[in-house]
Amino acid sequence: MNVIKNKLCRMCNGRKFDLVINLGQHPLVNSLISKKDIKKKDPTFLIKVVQCKSCKLVQIKDVIDANEIYKNVDYLYFSSDMPKLDKYFKPYAEDLKKRFLKKNDFVVEIGSNDGIMLNFFKNKYKILGVDPATNVVLRSIRQKIPALPLFFDNSVAKKISNEWGKAKLIYGNNCIAHLNNLKDLMSGVQNLLTNDGVFVVECNYWGGMVKNTNYSLIYHDHFSYFSVKPWINFAKKYKMYPFDAVVTPAQGGSLRLFLSKKKLKRTKRFKSLLNEELKTKLNTYSKCVEYRNKVYDVSRRLRALVLNLRKKGKKIAGYGAAAKGMTILKCSNIGDKLKYFVDDSPAKQGLYSPVDHVPIISRKDAQKKLPDYFIILAPNYSDIIMKKEKKFIQNGGKFIVLTKDIKVV
Ligand SMILES: [Zn+2]
Repeated sequence: MNVIKNKLCRMCNGRKFDLVINLGQHPLVNSLISKKDIKKKDPTFLIKVVQCKSCKLVQIKDVIDANEIYKNVDYLYFSSDMPKLDKYFKPYAEDLKKRFLKKNDFVVEIGSNDGIMLNFFKNKYKILGVDPATNVVLRSIRQKIPALPLFFDNSVAKKISNEWGKAKLIYGNNCIAHLNNLKDLMSGVQNLLTNDGVFVVECNYWGGMVKNTNYSLIYHDHFSYFSVKPWINFAKKYKMYPFDAVVTPAQGGSLRLFLSKKKLKRTKRFKSLLNEELKTKLNTYSKCVEYRNKVYDVSRRLRALVLNLRKKGKKIAGYGAAAKGMTILKCSNIGDKLKYFVDDSPAKQGLYSPVDHVPIISRKDAQKKLPDYFIILAPNYSDIIMKKEKKFIQNGGKFIVLTKDIKVV
């Protein structure tokens, strides 16, 4: 595996950094292991999060070449397999249509996955998705949502613009954290967008991670952890201006940021979010230190809880074999204490977790060997999961829930 060592800050080219947190060696959390490979030793990588001293962007500098993540393995995350995601994207798409689009306008989605959101633009607008994972793009095309199996960068943007014209709306959800070259992304957006066009990015929000002591989002293919402030100067270099922002409930708190080429009036909610960052000292190093101490505390307590339950002879299984969960398990070093994972995604069933090689099975198969405790490893779906599992709870089963703090329900 090819590790890229960045010397400069991904946004401002700064050279000086402060350590936010060192999580030690982690496996590639999205690479689940097939049966034939469980005898092999899985590669692990150091995860060290730092903050740029100058623009304050929180980031991982040494990253694994993203080509290896998306091209060489089957990317197992199909958006349409996730519960309720379409319900999240529909009003989001409606909002974009109402505010920024006219009939036949061109809409481009970066990181379009299987086309789950572009689907809502399908009939009235010209649409194109761009996503590096070939297998999800194939599913998108089958559903008549045109997409390119490529990384979005400046050269791809120019080609799209030459062939299809400029886009009135470009948006990307949960994808820019995976990009090592944010500068190239912005050049591409600048080239492809019409002069009155809008660029919308939805990405992990550092403010939410700090507020909720959420460290499940820290893993090898999330290179950056965003807040509003660093974006302002960064976008300016590409003659783009953030004018609206909102924190959404996605991924346990995501930042949806709206940028334009024209200087538009900043919305009230944009100003208030920026103000909140200032008031809570979000973009300071002392906040990073506070965050680190809380993360260490939570992962220590989780380890103690699990070891104690095991000592009492309790059986524990994981609910959801999501990347986020793998980070949580690794930080507490308890991955090998689980009997199995259940996961609703058929693409994951039959595979094994990286390093600890714990099997992933369907919920139906788990019925014959239910544990005493399920630890929910897709924390953002905790409510949905517990609603679905009323019977398990009624029969005395318990859940370990990790939103905000550790709770046993
Ligand atoms: Zn910087």
